[in-house]
Amino acid sequence: MTLAMDQSRLALPYIGGATVDVDERTVVLEPADTTIRVGSVALAGPEHVEAAVAAATEAFPAWRDLSAEERGDMILAAAAALEAEAPALIDLLAREVGKVLPDARADIMGSIAMLKNFVALVRELATDPNHAGEPGTGQAVLVKVRHVPVGPVAVIGPWNTPVFLTFNGIAPSLASGCTVIVKPAVEAPLALTAVVRILAEHLPPGVLNVVPGRGSVVGQALAEHPGIRALMFTGGTETGRRIQAAAAGNLKKVALELGGNDPAIILEDAEIDDSMITELVAGSFGMTGQICFNIKRIYVHRSHYDEFVERFTEAVGRVVIGDPHDETAHIGPLTTRDGYENAKRLLSDAVAAGATVRELGTYSKSAKRDSGLYISPTVVTGIAPDSELVLDEQFAPIMPIIAFDTDDEAVAEANRTEFGLASSVWSADLAHAERVAGRIEAGNTFINTHRLGASVPFVPFGGVKQSGLGRTHGMYSLHHCTEEHGIVGFTEPATQLPGISHWQSVVAGVDA
Ligand code: NAD
Repeated sequence: MTLAMDQSRLALPYIGGATVDVDERTVVLEPADTTIRVGSVALAGPEHVEAAVAAATEAFPAWRDLSAEERGDMILAAAAALEAEAPALIDLLAREVGKVLPDARADIMGSIAMLKNFVALVRELATDPNHAGEPGTGQAVLVKVRHVPVGPVAVIGPWNTPVFLTFNGIAPSLASGCTVIVKPAVEAPLALTAVVRILAEHLPPGVLNVVPGRGSVVGQALAEHPGIRALMFTGGTETGRRIQAAAAGNLKKVALELGGNDPAIILEDAEIDDSMITELVAGSFGMTGQICFNIKRIYVHRSHYDEFVERFTEAVGRVVIGDPHDETAHIGPLTTRDGYENAKRLLSDAVAAGATVRELGTYSKSAKRDSGLYISPTVVTGIAPDSELVLDEQFAPIMPIIAFDTDDEAVAEANRTEFGLASSVWSADLAHAERVAGRIEAGNTFINTHRLGASVPFVPFGGVKQSGLGRTHGMYSLHHCTEEHGIVGFTEPATQLPGISHWQSVVAGVDA
């Protein structure tokens, strides 16, 4: 079976095992050529959220009560169906987001791998042995911690890595026995909606649903809904705050993966060589600067500053910008018109403030610069450390580079913003790097790397301060969609436990 492209070009709700038609729609344009329409997306309303919550609520008990084995088998069969459609989905994703094919491939294939990983993890947990004591020793003979699925879960995703980041919520939820409602971003809803529909068609009706639409309508209704027990969100910090407030009504569990402004700190004892420059260029400009944990500002020890800027700039000059389907391109356009306008504004502000702004890179012939949302990879020096480009999240391929004199100064600059997602420290001395890393306020600090792939599946991922709440990956994700249920038992009433003697007089004849 191959993906029905006409269906995938129109993102409609899929609720309770059926596609639902919606009249109100908006178009999805190709960022690489905004004169081309990739497809359109339904703008669903609160009534669709009601229907989806009802379907997810009805499907929940039977899904929850399957064994981890049974549920896992169904998810793996669905994942195999998805894998068969992967090439068409990768193509669609590259078009709607504007990301180059290797990035689109990582998004789809990584999501399939994630499903398999969570099935394996949940099966492993289900076979956890009891921590039992010996009868008669005063210890409980049954001590079991069950990971109980919370119920219907809502997963609200962003446009930058729409499938993989939404799977951070979908995969643990489905595997652990929750039913799920997905809300894709309006900017890039097509591949994700198609992916969810393919999976959902292989699962019992209502287990997995998708409701595309505006965040202020569909997202808000999901966040407020008392029938949703947990919400996993990836997106901007402001939206995260709104969601947390809306979710307070029924105390739903909320996990927030929010924006970042990651610093990279190059210490005095770092070695400026080709491998370091390659890692830093990839970490800065990967996905056109639109990864939440891209490097967004570089601090370099003054002793290396001139050499670093020269070598980094030279390498950025060799970055190829092109159409997402151009195999020679390292990066494509920005995804959204708003992001593009914001990048242009940041650049003109930097020029106006007297900074040195070098727009670099090489455009491939495939790049339609007149109609695509292309921003050149840009290096900015001579910029004030407290300027907006340095302290806010640019989400574009524009890199400010700033000199520092001491470790203390670098750490203070790194911690100066309210963001705290990832960060990196670069040094030839691992112990020194680790000492500096330990002082950075962030969810993750990488040493001598900083890019996609560095977030190992079982290392917790998430942010501190305004970059988020909670962690994803492995067990950390399961905490959001399950509740721990402790069961502690004795074979007979536990009068041997301390504290009972005070009560023994209430029943005559109790054994001492
Ligand atoms: P966004 O916050 O604008 O939108 C994210 C999702 O929230 C979309 O589906 C949107 O429709 C929905 N939404 C909007 N208003 C809502 C509301 N009131 N209630 C509920 N849902 C609502 O973010 P974006 O522009 O799609 O993504 C870019 C941002 O996401 C950047 O800040 C980036 O750093 C961040 N991000 C973070 C991570 C991470 O893991 N920490 C990963 C990727 C992106």
